[in-house]
Amino acid sequence: MPHLADHWLNIAYLIAASLFVFGIKGLTKPRTAVRGNQLAALGMLIACVVTVFHRDIFGYEFIVAGVILGTVIGAVMAIRVQMTSMPQMIALLNGFGGGASFAVATAGYIAGDLVGAVAIISTGAAVLIGAVTTTGSIVAFAKLQELISGKSIGFAGMKFVNALLLLGSLVAIGYLVIEPGNEMVFWALVAAASLLGLMLVLPIGGADMPVVIALLNSYSGVAASAAGFVTGNSALIITGSLVGASGLILTQIMCKAMNRSLTNVLFGVMAEGGVSMSDDEVYQGKVKSSSADEVAMILETAQRVVIVPGFGMAMAQAQHAVRELADTLEKRGTVVEYAIHPVAGRMPGHMNVLLAEAEVSYEKLKDMDTINPTFEQTDVAIVIGANDVTNPMAREDKGSPIYGMPILNVDKARTVVVVKRSLSSGFAGLPNPLFAKDNTLMLFGDGKQAIIDISTALKDA
Ligand code: NDP
Repeated sequence: MPHLADHWLNIAYLIAASLFVFGIKGLTKPRTAVRGNQLAALGMLIACVVTVFHRDIFGYEFIVAGVILGTVIGAVMAIRVQMTSMPQMIALLNGFGGGASFAVATAGYIAGDLVGAVAIISTGAAVLIGAVTTTGSIVAFAKLQELISGKSIGFAGMKFVNALLLLGSLVAIGYLVIEPGNEMVFWALVAAASLLGLMLVLPIGGADMPVVIALLNSYSGVAASAAGFVTGNSALIITGSLVGASGLILTQIMCKAMNRSLTNVLFGVMAEGGVSMSDDEVYQGKVKSSSADEVAMILETAQRVVIVPGFGMAMAQAQHAVRELADTLEKRGTVVEYAIHPVAGRMPGHMNVLLAEAEVSYEKLKDMDTINPTFEQTDVAIVIGANDVTNPMAREDKGSPIYGMPILNVDKARTVVVVKRSLSSGFAGLPNPLFAKDNTLMLFGDGKQAIIDISTALKDA
């Protein structure tokens, strides 16, 4: 097999890195997003193909086997995954990214071709961050898949144990610089870092998961960058840095959206919130159930309607039905807009993706700061499968674990219609006083069917 000279390889890597940068720029606007994605994918293709011609590659059996196995597993996962399970899959893919960097660094160590402090420190960093990302992402996956409770899981003194694990890992890396051949210390580092990943994500519960997912994404980039230093691969260093930096920016955006500091999230201050109200205290005797016909009657006279989607819209796959209802309302002269909370759903941009799939025009999607001042002039707010992001406890109840998180002020609308199947809580596991307000009507049922029923009743009116 012919090998590419290093300078050609580096030129190809530079082209790939430029394509990544232009790709990310394209992703910042809906109009250029598809093109941006294609450019980044082209960059990745170039980076992968030229790496195969690197002079250090002598045999192709393992590469071919890996490509075939990876393609088959990836294709089966992508075809079989339900749209509603995408957030879990993305959490898992983050973990695979960290795992790959961990594996590269471990292979480098076992092969014994690491010379000098920089190589050892890069390897240690890739192992530490890669392992934390892998096990942390597995816990995030398990929480989102509801294999384990989404609430905070922990024990007294957990922060102290975590601090010890981190310190121990750093000491192990330092020791390896002095005595690189000490395999026991290397495997102790692997064990401590893997445990640290588990212990860091287990106590994060309630509404804080979006921050953790963004942070794990960032970690996977930093781990890849460190693996780039281990293998001397400039494309990996650049790509890893891009992912690390953009993940960190996303983490900051998520923290700001939830009015939380990163340290508070990581050290579980939210999880330790005070005493909150029980379901009975919030709901007993105050909840009004409604029907599709009654909702349609209210909508008939509405001049302005705001649709507030949440995770339940994704679960019900109700986005097309929602758009059809909006079309029907608009034909009658009603102004319809959508209120998008930054952490609605289970992944950043979840609602935007679903509504774009249903071809809802991007101009109609309003962010929290834009839509909140308009709720007082809104005749009807239709909340479809959203819960935590509309919970007034975040504004009013100092004892609530979500106190301080900005919410969509839907309760200020003249009438609020909440479409969901029951009074069950959302991801944060809290009751929602919105459902018991005087101006709220509950329309119980599957989101898609309920919206179709309202549309039908409205057309028949
Ligand atoms: P929530 O998780 O608060 O609530 C979703 C609601 O949807 C539930 O109360 C459920 O009620 C309802 N629902 C479920 N299935 C259906 C269905 N088929 N039809 C109708 N309703 C349904 O969602 P929000 O979007 O309001 O909030 C997101 C939460 O997830 C926040 O706490 C956020 O922090 C967290 N999170 C967000 C991430 C992100 O990146 N966006 C990542 C991880 C977590 P019922 O069972 O009664 O129908």
